Amino acid sequence: MNIKLPEYVDTFDDGELHIKFDPKLDLIAIIAIHSTQLGPSLGGCRLHHYSSMDDAIYDAVRLAKGMTYKAALAHLELGGGKSVLLAPEKITDRKAYFEAFGRFVEDLGGRHITAVDSGSNIDDMENIATQTRYVASRRSNGSPSPYTAHGVFRGIQAAVKHKFHRDNLDGMHVAIQGVGSVGYDLAKELHAAGARLTVTDINQAAVATCVAEFGATAVNNDEIFSQACDVFAPCAMGAILNDVTIPKLNCDIIAGAANNQLAHDHNADQLYERGILYAPDYVINGAGVMHCAVGFTSLTYEQLHSKIELIYDTMTEIFQLSDTEKTSPAHVTDIVAQERIAKATTE
Ligand code: NAD
Repeated sequence: MNIKLPEYVDTFDDGELHIKFDPKLDLIAIIAIHSTQLGPSLGGCRLHHYSSMDDAIYDAVRLAKGMTYKAALAHLELGGGKSVLLAPEKITDRKAYFEAFGRFVEDLGGRHITAVDSGSNIDDMENIATQTRYVASRRSNGSPSPYTAHGVFRGIQAAVKHKFHRDNLDGMHVAIQGVGSVGYDLAKELHAAGARLTVTDINQAAVATCVAEFGATAVNNDEIFSQACDVFAPCAMGAILNDVTIPKLNCDIIAGAANNQLAHDHNADQLYERGILYAPDYVINGAGVMHCAVGFTSLTYEQLHSKIELIYDTMTEIFQLSDTEKTSPAHVTDIVAQERIAKATTE
């Protein structure tokens, strides 16, 4: 094992790293807490096959920092953290595995709140909840997807206003990659607002639904990148904005729900140089974390809708700063987040 802990110090500021082993259950769990300056650290529980402990720690640290910024940009009384579980070859008793993880979360006494993420599911959250109350994404909370979709819709409106000086989406052509939970709800709102849709998905039934309900045009998975459109909305998976796909793009705006859309930092510069307005993913999909915040902050379900409306203002602030600083919105987003944390902690 070759753990480069000193190298994380630069990235992780004054964060914390907690590691739990339970050999009987093959549990190796990491909880990275990047910041509790604005409130308890909230972040999803990722279950993944890592090739080394080092890779898992790196992922936890990187994602925890992203959650600090995501919460700050969403105006929440939350810090950032991430749980990472190193998936064994086989989990023999999944219930006991997640209960043990729940006890680990409980041991931190509320400094960390876990939630669903890739590899974990709502049943796992319910098993965690038998051991701790510091778990979001419970079945009783309902799906965050319609909220996330509305936040993305508001972000698209902000981007269209900034790029085209337009207050409506009537006739705008939006190409959506992935019409699953969020993508479908987004398509519904865009259609209601008068947008013209092109969609793709590896699930043909999901595509057929959008064609039937919203008059969308269906294209193959690899054709979505080169669609001549006003807005490209990635709503499937991460790292889809990369050295291969960016040269193919034929859009003016990229604004979608998927997490970690940029494969590398330099891809943000490529988009900026091409004049494509990029809405940073962890601002535009922030309604998901807002949904998780209900029950752990002063935010109530009644206030959730007005909170989501703020995504429009945050996106506008970032686009304007990007113009002033003559750099990509992705680069100025961290500055806006850091300023918000600094302001909130001195108030
Ligand atoms: P989902 O699994 O319901 O939908 C994803 C869709 O993408 C599926 O229909 C899937 O078939 C499709 N897809 C997968 N690979 C594809 C490919 N190569 N080409 C085209 N389509 C493909 O997931 P979701 O909950 O809608 O989330 C979508 C994205 O938004 C994810 O990146 C997720 O991390 C992010 N996100 C979701 C939420 C939320 O509230 N659900 C919140 C924040 C971020």
